[in-house]
Amino acid sequence: MKPLVIAGNWKSNKTTAEALRWLQDFKSHIVSIPKYITVVLCVPFTLLYTLKEAIQSDGFPLVLGAQNLSPFADGAQTGEESARMVHDLADWVIIGHSERRKNFGETDGILRKKVEQAKSAGLKIIYCVPNDSTGIPNDVDVVAYEPVWAIGTGESDIPENANSVMTNIKAKSQVPTVIYGGSVTAANVASFVSQPAIDGVLPGGESLDPEKFAALLIHAYG
Ligand code: PEP
Repeated sequence: MKPLVIAGNWKSNKTTAEALRWLQDFKSHIVSIPKYITVVLCVPFTLLYTLKEAIQSDGFPLVLGAQNLSPFADGAQTGEESARMVHDLADWVIIGHSERRKNFGETDGILRKKVEQAKSAGLKIIYCVPNDSTGIPNDVDVVAYEPVWAIGTGESDIPENANSVMTNIKAKSQVPTVIYGGSVTAANVASFVSQPAIDGVLPGGESLDPEKFAALLIHAYG
């Protein structure tokens, strides 16, 4: 079995009580996660502490990721979470999601600074790109290919097409792990992860529902 990274992206959703309920429900739908699958749960900053405590207390094999971090180190940056703070609570971080590029004006220059900060704090980086011509900074751990038209639309890329874009991304960037994001569900996950260049998926909407996310994982290794 090839190693897979499955990273759920909760985006800007869930209160603390909702997150804890999600975790309980998720565990009732999935008995175990095979060792070759890394499941990263990327949640808002406000949920990291509570989820970290909950996951540590029962040893469930989920790892936590943030969805953003400051391009600056600690200091006079009101409202920002530095990489060092994020790494206190999470092991991974998403950088360059298309929603941040579009809605928050994050340029390649800003994203490069975020990658530098994340790397120096020891965070593992999932770097999102919408195609195979977008630049990828050195030192990222995972690239997520996410065609913008497929995010949150219910329309996913054709697996063979995603595979060929991701083959190009691997050749250009030398990053060994490339995952696909864009309307991934339990019904289509196997068609993606069975492609040779696809090393996992980044589901957004589907990760919000614990039963659907558990089903997605089961179909990924089914
Ligand atoms: C995402 O959050 O990056 C994403 C791909 O969302 P969705 O699975 O809902 O399309």
